[in-house]
Amino acid sequence: MQRKSKLPEPRRLQDYAPPDWLVPAASFRFELDAVRTLVHARLEVVCNRDDIRALVLDGEELELVSLRIDGVAQPLPNVGADGLTLAIAGRHAVVETVVAIRPSANTQLMGLYASGGNLCTQCEAEGFRRISFFPDRPDVLTRYAVRLEADLRAFPVLLGNGNPGDAGLLGGGRHFAEWDDPFPKPCYLFAVVAGQLEALRDSFVTASGRVVGLAIWVAAADIDRSGHAMLSLKQAMAWDERVYGREYDLDVFNIVAVNDFNFGAMENKGLNIFNARYVLADADTATDHDFDSIAAVVAHEYFHNWSGNRVTCRDWFQLALKEGFTVYRDQQFSADLGSPAVRRIESVRSLRLHQFPEDNGPMAHPVRPESYIEISNFYTATVYNKGAELIRMMAGQLGAERYRRACDGYFAGHDGTAATVEDFLAAMAAEGLDAALFARWYSQSGTPTLTATVEHFAGDGCALLHVAQASRRHGTLQEPLPIPLSVALFAADGRRMAARDDLLLTDAENSFLFEGIDAPPILSMNRGFVAPVHVQPAPARDALAMLAAHEDDRFARYDALQQLMHSALAEGMAAGTALGHADVVAAVRSALAGWQDDPAFVAEAVLLPAESLVGDRQHKVDPPAIHAAREALRLSIRAGLADELWAVFHACRTHGGDLSARAKGLRRLKGIALGLLMAGDAADATSAAFGMFSAADCMTDRMAALSALSHSAAPERDAALRVFFERYRGFPEVLDKWFAVQAASTRGDTLETVQMLADHPLFDARNPNRLRALALGFAGNQARFHDRKGAGYAWLAAQVLAADRINPQSAARLVGPLARWRRLMPPWGGLMSDRLLAIGRSPGLSKDVREVVESSI
Ligand SMILES: [Zn+2]
Repeated sequence: MQRKSKLPEPRRLQDYAPPDWLVPAASFRFELDAVRTLVHARLEVVCNRDDIRALVLDGEELELVSLRIDGVAQPLPNVGADGLTLAIAGRHAVVETVVAIRPSANTQLMGLYASGGNLCTQCEAEGFRRISFFPDRPDVLTRYAVRLEADLRAFPVLLGNGNPGDAGLLGGGRHFAEWDDPFPKPCYLFAVVAGQLEALRDSFVTASGRVVGLAIWVAAADIDRSGHAMLSLKQAMAWDERVYGREYDLDVFNIVAVNDFNFGAMENKGLNIFNARYVLADADTATDHDFDSIAAVVAHEYFHNWSGNRVTCRDWFQLALKEGFTVYRDQQFSADLGSPAVRRIESVRSLRLHQFPEDNGPMAHPVRPESYIEISNFYTATVYNKGAELIRMMAGQLGAERYRRACDGYFAGHDGTAATVEDFLAAMAAEGLDAALFARWYSQSGTPTLTATVEHFAGDGCALLHVAQASRRHGTLQEPLPIPLSVALFAADGRRMAARDDLLLTDAENSFLFEGIDAPPILSMNRGFVAPVHVQPAPARDALAMLAAHEDDRFARYDALQQLMHSALAEGMAAGTALGHADVVAAVRSALAGWQDDPAFVAEAVLLPAESLVGDRQHKVDPPAIHAAREALRLSIRAGLADELWAVFHACRTHGGDLSARAKGLRRLKGIALGLLMAGDAADATSAAFGMFSAADCMTDRMAALSALSHSAAPERDAALRVFFERYRGFPEVLDKWFAVQAASTRGDTLETVQMLADHPLFDARNPNRLRALALGFAGNQARFHDRKGAGYAWLAAQVLAADRINPQSAARLVGPLARWRRLMPPWGGLMSDRLLAIGRSPGLSKDVREVVESSI
């Protein structure tokens, strides 16, 4: 493939060198204005090498107004594309710059930008260079003092990192506020906010008795929908003290909700900035899933105060050091709040949906990547979710007590510094982990495949389990990884004969002996999903049906039923016709029978695998065949279990305001039962769905009914969409659901609908949430995105190019679905690669989009 335009040279982990200059202290004065903000910076710089080199300050789209070195005004130097290079005479200096920036013209949403009339910042990973000239790298730790000045009426609230200092009035209708952060931090954790915001306030008393003022800042109309985020924050603060011994360290903790945001949320020191969808919730506007996501994201960002902020990353290759660890911590928190088994099912499903395909695609990279061109392309499921799985495995190996001591050692040993994955592994090794072995997980990409076979010695009443591992990258076999195993052996009658959860596969092949095996054993592998691996071969269907009924590990029971469904779908596709669903129907019937004991678990167990998960198991993906096979299975389940499903549908009654785990489980199960009953667009289910939609007293029920209706050809569908739109047009994060649910419809006219929605007055490609809801909602629609003419791909490619002119990070995320072209059968694979090539030929592409496109072709 010939490159049309040159990409910048990648940065490499092996080239790391400490910074030439450090900035131990800095003060900033912002003259805030949406059109033109002046940033006055005063940096105390200190040489960090024996010989003195030029001081290089990163900068992007900054207008340099003035420069002084050690108090002496300098002629304005030429500013290069990447920043400012200054010759400094001694080993210390004070560098003062004044720059002008344009927040309201900043559509990239990196640096200081305007959102809904307010001003806010996003600096991770490399946004601070769009605010001021500075060594923008995480291993430069600085103590910041900040003074904000702005018009009092336009920006009555002025927030910064750290603790509040002086505030007061200035002349000319302006005012100021000072903020001081006593903890040295990298500039990616810098934040300021200015705007018309109201606070929901509360307080938290830490373990050592300090009172912390808590505030969640939102638009005045949203105050009533901020209570759940506040409750979640207080739960997270208490949990981190109890489970990890981590106490909060400032006098205040502020969260600000903004509508235009590239990420979920950002852990800036003492001033978290959140995508509003992860703050605002009440039963009328948020689903149970939204409530749970808010708790998880609030906790995640709060936990970063230690895992990320107090101990930060030396360089961006170490991103998983803070993200994998913190995701694991928020998963533990969520498991403690809800049902651990259901949480585990959700995490694994997400891993399989997002990380496994990434590991098997063109952008595959190790949890710690070795090179990158644009770091924002590496905020991935691999770094976050596989990174969390690695911590989970290590914690499991050490056991709770030693893992806690290892974490204590890591925090104590690296507090106030920028650390590496090696530092974390060394802390784990201090408690006995074979860290050199586990380090391999950080440097190898790809999902390992385990091949497991059992040899039964009937005469001796024992069995040998043989497990072999293989992980290939570009056809080359990689080094064996340490893989924890949790296995059980069952008899055909459902009796568990043996179970072990303390085995560790360390070689390419290991064997393990089990005694007391008096009948031919059926193997249940990777119980609890203790390792992020594939296992082969899949057990026979009768063995899966037995495990689905008798496994006592709930994850394994769930997974057996999922695998049984996968087998039925694969066999149906191979035969070209629906066949043999009787065992699936029987297994679903038996799972449904236990719905009253644990509705949340039963809901997950009977949920059909997503079409993309079915595709991931195919050699080459055939989207229409998958859709047809899955629809046939839905019809079989509906035909075989209509009475049971209707009984569950009618019996699952809750009060919409009841947010207990049981009520959430009942609502989830009711929605999934409705989805199965809607198979074939059955008229009785359509009218039940419309009834449920109309009578719903909470968003979970309303959305479940609307999703079910969205695929229907019945007139109730349009009626429900109209009602929903009118009711929620003033709630941006709710209206995203209205866009997404139509984009995900399996109706034949969905592409036309999506094209119309892109012209809707309330569609705005500058808003990342809205763009994602429509474009990624549609790209995830396996039945309609992959049409035989490639019209869906053409539409997505046009969105990529349009978005790239506005916000390259947002645009690069839209390329992902096209980048998987190699996995698809003709004609789809070829049509996709044509679109990728066309994007690659477009002039003026950002490096964000170019990196993804060029890696994919
Ligand atoms: Zn994070």
